[in-house]
Amino acid sequence: MAAKIISGTQIAAEIREEIRADVVQLKEKYGVTPGLVTILVGENPASVSYVTGKQKTAHDLGFFSIQDNQPADITEEALLVLIDKYNKDPKIHGILVQLPLPKHVNETKVLYAIDPDKDVDAFHPVNVGKLVIGEANYFPCTPFGIQQLLIRSGVQTEGAEVVVVGRSNIVGKPIANMMLQKAKGANATVTVCHTATRDMAFHTKRADILIVAAGRPKAITADMVKEGAVVIDVGVNRIGMTPEGKAKLAGDVDFETVKEKASAITPVPGGVGPMTITMLMLNTVKAAKVAAGVK
Ligand code: NAP
Repeated sequence: MAAKIISGTQIAAEIREEIRADVVQLKEKYGVTPGLVTILVGENPASVSYVTGKQKTAHDLGFFSIQDNQPADITEEALLVLIDKYNKDPKIHGILVQLPLPKHVNETKVLYAIDPDKDVDAFHPVNVGKLVIGEANYFPCTPFGIQQLLIRSGVQTEGAEVVVVGRSNIVGKPIANMMLQKAKGANATVTVCHTATRDMAFHTKRADILIVAAGRPKAITADMVKEGAVVIDVGVNRIGMTPEGKAKLAGDVDFETVKEKASAITPVPGGVGPMTITMLMLNTVKAAKVAAGVK
């Protein structure tokens, strides 16, 4: 039987409506407008497109938002001064520095300079550590989006065998840590695979929930998936151009064959992707609430 398609587009739209209502209430009851600054260094086309999408969404949801464009040759020191300015700005609740940064800038140093309370990407080690011990203020946006897809699609996670393919700091490690917490949408038994995993199919075939973030098109084929598994495909791979000149995207999962075996699956595009920006907005609203002392 063909799998149910978990639509990130639809679930993200629902969450955005909840955020919109929250923003109105925050403004009316507490006089607070969530504020987000996105800092873009240079003109990398992919980064420009990501930042534009984030700003457009923030604006659409009624946030106070600033897109701060800096030249590619900005010094590390000047960037740190800029972050300090936004750390101290009470109108700004969330600071996002679009990665990657130019090579002459120490990315780690820049990310560590963001006030953890305004770190809505949740990459600061304070927030990473809090996530691991189950006391997260913020979850990183893509793993947060994955977990919401599972919760809002009614997927049973408690006691489930979750297999994560990929161990990056932005997807694999945080989602693995989130899924093993004793918490809602988690409490699973978690296995993490990577390039040194001896027999990946052995692990993926045991998964009730398979989360794939490898950055390799068709890394997961139907023979590697258990009948009835829930499959979350995080991968976004550019595999050519459409006749209209747009990038043709594929996930890490062989969607056409795996959807015949899985009970539910996310498409690419339209699965995890739309959730990521939405979770950034949710984190920013949370930051605004914390700053205003609103529960
Ligand atoms: P990454 O930093 O390149 O990490 C990839 C991970 O996958 C690594 O841990 C690597 O193992 C592992 N891996 C690669 N090939 C493998 C294979 N054949 N078998 C087993 N493990 C393998 O990638 P990332 O940043 O996590 O992103 C992963 C994918 O998700 C990319 O396609 C990216 O574009 C996409 N993504 C999408 C969103 C979204 O919002 N939709 C957000 C972030 C990322 P090693 O550690 O051993 O090298």
